[in-house]
Amino acid sequence: MAFLEIENLQKTFGDLRVVRDFNLNVEQGEFISFLGPSGCGKTTTLRMVAGFETPTAGSIRIGGKDVVNVKPNQRNIGMVFQSYALFPNLTVAQNVTFGLKVAGRDKATIDTRLKEMLTMIGLPDLGERYPFQLSGGQQQRVALARALAPAPQVLLLDEPLSALDAQIRVSLRSEIRAIQQKLGITTVYVTHDQEEALSMSDRIVVMHRGIADQIGTPVEIYNHPATRFVANFVGTLNQIEATVADPERGVVEVAGQSLALERKLSHPKGASVALAFRPQALHMGKGEGEIPVRGRISEVQFLGAVIRLKVDVGEASISLDAFNRAGAELPVTGSELTLSIAPSDILVL
Ligand code: ADP
Ligand code: MG
Repeated sequence: MAFLEIENLQKTFGDLRVVRDFNLNVEQGEFISFLGPSGCGKTTTLRMVAGFETPTAGSIRIGGKDVVNVKPNQRNIGMVFQSYALFPNLTVAQNVTFGLKVAGRDKATIDTRLKEMLTMIGLPDLGERYPFQLSGGQQQRVALARALAPAPQVLLLDEPLSALDAQIRVSLRSEIRAIQQKLGITTVYVTHDQEEALSMSDRIVVMHRGIADQIGTPVEIYNHPATRFVANFVGTLNQIEATVADPERGVVEVAGQSLALERKLSHPKGASVALAFRPQALHMGKGEGEIPVRGRISEVQFLGAVIRLKVDVGEASISLDAFNRAGAELPVTGSELTLSIAPSDILVL
């Protein structure tokens, strides 16, 4: 039995089916991300777990107990929002201890817990400050401490880093993940940022129009996307249309040419498929046992760590990443080059 079990969950607002049929089992201590574009139903799903929204159908169990009719404050859940939502007229200490006071905990317990929480978020000396005296990153740390102070059994975060500057966002990713792992708290993290989801999660739920398109580890989601939607939403992907010629031997036809992928395909003969591959799967020059591709550079994007090239190959335009090495010359637009790719790096979608 999983710790958090969501079964056939649905939510409609009027005629709008926002969550269509959502199923997920989260193990105790797991960090799960809901990743998807704006409007796909992430927040609505999270709010149903928290109890702020009543499901139209389906069940939610926490620790084996059906919570659909349990009030939010009885669910033993901590929540963090994008907007911090700190009480502006209360100090940091008063914010962090708010839940403990409501729960009627004694002063000694509250004082100990406050110290623990402020140390945990790296702000041991800021208890007497007010929210307006803190940076965005500090405010969000306080919001996290406030959510965790009552020792909830589940932590829910809804785009907690979206309002922060890029640098703080990246450092808070690791801080939140480290705190989550130290406490071993079951966590659901909503984001539209694929890097956040990939770098922080044990597993990712890629959401698309109110359903989970794919549930898997970051490596599974990135390397083996199950649908075209997942493949396109997570990372950059080249796609070339092809037709399956021989599924047993893995032969496909691309622009009148046969290509051997050296593995059995699940699509039937004659099926239209997309051959998909990541920009970093292609490399310049010839490779042993790899497929050679001739092309002409149409665009050079210098991104710092990598140089992203757009290359015209017949009718298709593909992206390719080359590492920026000290002393190496920038490739030139208009020049011709030979690329190669291993058959195993080509996905068939
Ligand atoms: P996400 O968090 O993935 O961006 P949401 O769950 O917030 O998506 O919203 C999904 C869809 O549901 C959106 O089209 C949104 O406008 C709609 N929606 C959310 N809450 C309500 C509501 N209370 N009433 C009507 N429509 C809503
Ligand atoms: Mg949202």
